Amino acid sequence: MTGRQRSPVAGEVPSPINPPTGCTFHPRCPFANDRCKVERPQSLPIEGGEVACHAIEEKRLPIEDRSYAARG
Ligand code: SF4
Repeated sequence: MTGRQRSPVAGEVPSPINPPTGCTFHPRCPFANDRCKVERPQSLPIEGGEVACHAIEEKRLPIEDRSYAARG
């Protein structure tokens, strides 16, 4: 345990049989834009790993901002 509280993501879990177009998270992502609905994000190298997210690539969401991962 990390001690962080997490809250559930709103919305329905996408069907694995018929996944959403673009980024599979876009129907539930508060940072999604029109690009997210049609284009799957490519992996980008970051310190300590990789991330695949248009919001981070477009600098709409700073990589340092982890508030989306640890709300509550
Ligand atoms: S902002 Fe990132 S995680 Fe959210 S839908 Fe777009 S690509 Fe996916």
